[in-house]
Amino acid sequence: MQFAPWAGDLHGYLPLKRVKDHTGTAILYHRGYYGLNDSGAPEGRVGPHCRPEVVDLKSAKRQLLASIRAEVSDERLISAISRVPREMFVPAESIHLAYENKPLPIGQGQTISQPLIVALMIDALELRRTDRVLELGTGSGYQAALISEIADTVISVERILSLANDTRVRLRSGGFHAVEVVNATQELGWQQGAPYDAIIVAAGAPRLPMELISQLVPGGRLVVPVGSRENQELMKVTRTDDSYSVRTLGGCRFVPLIGKGAWPT
Ligand code: SAH
Repeated sequence: MQFAPWAGDLHGYLPLKRVKDHTGTAILYHRGYYGLNDSGAPEGRVGPHCRPEVVDLKSAKRQLLASIRAEVSDERLISAISRVPREMFVPAESIHLAYENKPLPIGQGQTISQPLIVALMIDALELRRTDRVLELGTGSGYQAALISEIADTVISVERILSLANDTRVRLRSGGFHAVEVVNATQELGWQQGAPYDAIIVAAGAPRLPMELISQLVPGGRLVVPVGSRENQELMKVTRTDDSYSVRTLGGCRFVPLIGKGAWPT
């Protein structure tokens, strides 16, 4: 299992320890440090009463993969999810939750999306190896890393500069060299790299973004959450030569897509 060696350094927390027991590799942490209290918030520093606890990420990952397999059948995607270490993409204090099927805070009011919804969205893109893919909302880089295991070219746009910078470093140290992280401009998407075979939007738009449909090749697919700031419907748009078709895939909840043609800050 790959491990996040910078987790301790970047966030100023105690370095995590890897331990082995009969179930395999696990992470040793202290209840008072990496643990959660009864209301789910991380507790304070290691104190005299803390008990070390073992979180077995390997078995948590196995369980998560089983629940994703029940919804997604594309073996390339399943194998990408089993190869990409989600613990690399979550903050140090959440590493023990890396394989829960939950979104987690990544700072700046943003979240790394829930693994199942990430899988369903990538599945809906119907990717081929040679596809050029655009992602809006790099965030932690997890979704971009997964896509780069399936398609050769991934451009990911992020509007928060510090997130984009941290994630560039993270993706490089994780060996995900096929992902190019670019800073968002005033316009939605990334016109310089258009057209794309597939576009995936990791934030909720107030309406169907026509500016993104126009950045697709004919036959290209766009997967985007559309709705209010709180709740959206996941939509899949397929572009044809001079029109497009839309299919809804179900309800979802994303942080807002910000900018011209989307929500104000
Ligand atoms: N795909 C991410 C989750 C991203 S959360 C992951 O796997 O971790 C949504 C991200 O979209 C946030 O980082 C937010 O800053 C970004 N965002 C919001 N509006 C945007 C826009 N117009 N262009 C690019 N990124 C945007």
